[in-house]
Amino acid sequence: MIEGIIVDAGHGGIDSGAVGNNLLEKDLNLKAAQYMYNRLKELGIPAKLVRDNDEYLPKEERVRRIKNLYNNSPNTILISNHMNAGNGEGAEIVYSLKNTPDLANLILSNIKDQGQKIRKTYQRRLPENPNLDYYYILRETGNTTPLLIEYGFIDNINDSNRLKNNLEDYVEGVVKALAEYLNYPYIPKVLEYYTVQRGDTLYSISRRFNIPIDKLIEINDLKSNILSIGQIIYLEEKPSTDYDTYTVVKGDSLWSISKRYDIRVNDLIELNNLSDLNIRIGQTLLVPKKDIDNNTYIVEKGDTLWSIAKKNSISVNELKELNNLTNNTISIGQVLKVK
Ligand SMILES: [Zn+2]
Repeated sequence: MIEGIIVDAGHGGIDSGAVGNNLLEKDLNLKAAQYMYNRLKELGIPAKLVRDNDEYLPKEERVRRIKNLYNNSPNTILISNHMNAGNGEGAEIVYSLKNTPDLANLILSNIKDQGQKIRKTYQRRLPENPNLDYYYILRETGNTTPLLIEYGFIDNINDSNRLKNNLEDYVEGVVKALAEYLNYPYIPKVLEYYTVQRGDTLYSISRRFNIPIDKLIEINDLKSNILSIGQIIYLEEKPSTDYDTYTVVKGDSLWSISKRYDIRVNDLIELNNLSDLNIRIGQTLLVPKKDIDNNTYIVEKGDTLWSIAKKNSISVNELKELNNLTNNTISIGQVLKVK
């Protein structure tokens, strides 16, 4: 069983990584890592970030953190997020000499499904010692199963445009592949929203996300064209999540879970593609959406961290801490601890 996914954002701080078409690799890497981390958490897959801001990590410090996050456990996957440069187009993944290409191949094909061009998965050897991996992130990161993902070429005009607009989709492909590989139920990201910034108009938002103004008005049930800073504008119709994830704890059985969520045991088995009645502690199951206790809160349309904190008489900081949130992004259907 997986102990956790270590989510790395390559470069950072004074080390910007590749540069091209007004993009800095370090920024895109961080964006990819944060999105990946949040989505893994949403799916109940344990994950930790190596860096969550624009900081410079010397090689030794990055390696130290990676090894420390899960005490150098072999039951970890390290995803190091990068953008490429230098005469190419499309995504590629480097996997370690000690590993098979299975996971890398699965991830790359999921990135392709999300619309990115792909190149190949491969291993690269150190010229002076071909028994060793070329990249330190694969060579010196202990017992992890490390992968170096290059989402595209920042200095290629087609790739850079796609990375500007669709990077999160490609990362979603990685998340989907990881869920499949680790046998976690995958729930697609269903609802995107945008927080109104100074200077925004319905017109500018419509242009930016390529959604007609009347559609925005309809989705958000807007009564006027006047937006306020900080207002949430939904970009998609309606959440289609009818399911939550439930993590099995000691003492649970399929029967007890089925009672708790008002679902027949057979339906639970079918929903989760289980081959028998055995479940294990820590396993994640899809269950019907249901607010089952008052220690958790399920995010609804229109909610913000602030409104949820207020409803539950705690501070936004407490709420973020309880839920290991690194930013203010929440999505409809997300389950938050409120006590
Ligand atoms: Zn890089």
